[in-house]
Amino acid sequence: MSRWNDSLGTALAASPQGPKIVRRVLQRVAERKAMDTLAFTTYQLSTARTDRADVPPRDRIANHAMGLAGETGELVDAIKKRLFHGHDLDRTKVRDEIGDVLWYLARLAADFDLDLGACAEANVEKLRRRYPEGFSEAASVARVDAQEGS
Ligand SMILES: [Mg+2]
Repeated sequence: MSRWNDSLGTALAASPQGPKIVRRVLQRVAERKAMDTLAFTTYQLSTARTDRADVPPRDRIANHAMGLAGETGELVDAIKKRLFHGHDLDRTKVRDEIGDVLWYLARLAADFDLDLGACAEANVEKLRRRYPEGFSEAASVARVDAQEGS
C-alpha cells in the first residue's frame, strides 16, 4: 500500500465524517474530476484528529472562523514585518502560519459538510470560466462566472 493510501486510511479511521466523504471521493474519482485534489480531502480528514469534539456546532463554527481570522493575521504580520519593519523574511514562520490557516480552513469547511477537495475543484473551475486565457483586468471586470452565481 502506498504512503498516500496509508495516510488516507489513518485519516479516515480518525474522522467521524470519513464514510460519507469516502463515498463522495469515490464518486468524484469515478467522474474523473478529483484526481489531483484528493490530497486536500485526505488532509481535511486528518485535521479531525486534533479538533475539539466536545463543543456544539455553533461554537465550533465560531472557533474555526475566529481561528482562521487570527491565523491569517499572524501570516500577514510576518509579511508586514518583512515589508515595513526591516525584518528578514522568516520562511519557516510563513510556512507554519500557512499551515495554521489551512487547518482552520479545513475544519470550517467540515463544519459546513464541505469536502476541501471539492472546494478546490470548484475554485479551479470558477477561475477557468472567469479567466480562460489566464488573468486579465478585462476578464476580472467582466466576471463572466458571476451570472452563474459564483
Ligand atoms: Mg499560528
